[in-house]
This record gives sequence, C-alpha cells and structure tokens, in this order.
Amino acid sequence: MAPWALLTPGVLVRTGHTVLTWGITLVLFLHDTALRQWEEQGELLLPLTFLLLVLGSLLLYLTVSLMDPGYVNVLPQPQEEAKEEQTAMVPQAIPLRRCRYCMVLQPLRARHCRECRRCVRRYDHHCPWMENCVGERNHPLFVAYLALQLAVLLWALYLAWSGLRFFQPWGLWLRSSGLLFATFLLLSLFSLVASLLLASHLYLVASNTTTWEFISSHRIAYLRQRPGNPFDRGLTRNLAHFFCGWPSGSWETLWAEDEEEEGSSQAV
Ligand SMILES: [Zn+2]
Ligand SMILES: [Zn+2]
Repeated sequence: MAPWALLTPGVLVRTGHTVLTWGITLVLFLHDTALRQWEEQGELLLPLTFLLLVLGSLLLYLTVSLMDPGYVNVLPQPQEEAKEEQTAMVPQAIPLRRCRYCMVLQPLRARHCRECRRCVRRYDHHCPWMENCVGERNHPLFVAYLALQLAVLLWALYLAWSGLRFFQPWGLWLRSSGLLFATFLLLSLFSLVASLLLASHLYLVASNTTTWEFISSHRIAYLRQRPGNPFDRGLTRNLAHFFCGWPSGSWETLWAEDEEEEGSSQAV
C-alpha cells in the first residue's frame, strides 16, 4: 500500500484540527498576552487551567470524531429471524424501510450516510470538521464538546485581545502584532460558529428532534403522517433521555404511543 493511502480525509482533518489548536495556543503564549503577565506574576494556576481546557477539548474532539456514532449492525441475519424480530419488536403501523445502499432494516430515525457508507441510528448529520457522523451514540458528547470548545474559544479570544497593541507605523505593528491579530480574527470566527452550533443543537435536543428531521421533515415518512413531533416528551424528559438515557424506551414504542394518544384525542 502506498504511504499516501494512509492520508484519508479523516486523518487530514484531525491532524489539521490538532495542529491549529496547538498553533493558536502557541501564538497566545509567545505574545505579550495576559498569559505572560500571569506567568510573570507567578500565578501559574490560570495558564495551567487554560492548557488543561485546551487539552480536554482536543481529547473530546478526537473521541467524538473516532467513536462509533451508532452504526446499524450490518451482520447478515437469516431472513426468517430478521422478520420474526421485526414483528415482535415493532408495531406494524411504523413505516420501517430497508436501506437501498447497505440493505439493513433501518430502525426508526436511522439514515444512511453516504460519506460513512453505513446506516446510523438517530442520525443527526455528517460533520465534515469531525469527518464522522453525529448520531445516537456520540450526539451527547458532541454537544458537550461544543460547550467546552466554546468556553476555550471565548477565553482564547480574551487572551488574544489582551495582547493587542495598536500603534504606528503600521509596518512595524504588522510585524509585531500581525500574527496575533490574525489569530484574534480566526478565534472570533470560530467562536461565532461554535455559538450558533451549540445554540441550535441545544434547541434541537430540547425538542427531541435531529438536524436531519428539522430540515427534511416534509420528506420523512414517519414525520409526514401526523402534525407535530411524535418524539417530543417535554423539555425535562427530552434532556434527561438525551444526556442520561432516562426514561428509556425505543423510538418505535414512543412513536406508537404518540399515535395512540393522537387516536384517542381525535376520538374525544
Ligand atoms: Zn445504509
Ligand atoms: Zn457519516
């Protein structure tokens, strides 16, 4: 195998993220920012905390990026067994589909990802920055990562600002502060993106919907059949289920319960 075959998009994107993270941290330490002032005053706790948070955000990024997002098992099952399992576990009214790419029977809320070439349970989206899907297993960690990353970015933004001095001539300023100013602009952009992503994911999680369901509800069979979101159990229960797995229960059961409620309210 040629050595460059190892340079998959995943390896490139994760290496890029790691290099960018430590590059920005190095720029902040090498300029006359609050970090250096703390060091000179002998206050090492704050710079150390900052470094630990950067390391924590990087480890969380790599974990979310490398972990199984909740792939649907593709092991071939005997036809009969699969059919029996389906009838036993899934109410008949649910429009389950067989994936036309990997041929597995998709559980409710699963979707095939063309980049990963697998079906993913409670598919949210394929994140190009992670080069991985965000799905049932890694979505809570993805939200935690966004929160930690935003905290680190905002702190780094303050540090970059604390080191900026504006003076003339501009040529000299560009040489002494140009790199720090570019870092400040980059951090502003990343902070904006991370804030928007975190806000939108918290909103989606609070209403128990996914990015895919939110943008494509008109194309999704199990959502088209009735008004409203059949998986919404109220703010507290949605958050408790998302972060702690409680109350438990399959999406199929929840969907069927919602249909029963809908039927009884129509009967009244
Ligand atoms: Zn598939
Ligand atoms: Zn994917």
